[in-house]
Amino acid sequence: MAKRVLVVEDNALNLKLFCDLLRAHGYEAEAVSDAREALGKATTFAPDVIILDIQMPHITGLELIESIRRDVFLRRIPILAVTAYAGKGDEDRIRDAGADAYVAKPISLMKFVEVVAQLVELADSRALA
Ligand code: MN
Repeated sequence: MAKRVLVVEDNALNLKLFCDLLRAHGYEAEAVSDAREALGKATTFAPDVIILDIQMPHITGLELIESIRRDVFLRRIPILAVTAYAGKGDEDRIRDAGADAYVAKPISLMKFVEVVAQLVELADSRALA
């Protein structure tokens, strides 16, 4: 069965790029462009991995990470944060919020796919734990 990846990104072009890339690699990708819909969609879609943008209107990626980590049904799902800015302080804040990995924009597509595969393995190991 295909692994499921939820992608939360307000930029339509990036959202399509990420989902196309994931599908090309055999994942079932679900797109969410409005961060306010992310928790509800995650609950029904039950993704193996969540990819989220940090810079989003209404709910920032950092806030969304914290909400996911507080949610009893979602808290164990590995999170990949994607961000346009990537100073050391930013990376620390993203990891402190509870992300398992982050990739800086502009995204290296090879790196992106590699990190998703690692997080799927992490999801599997958490399911067994
Ligand atoms: Mn954005």
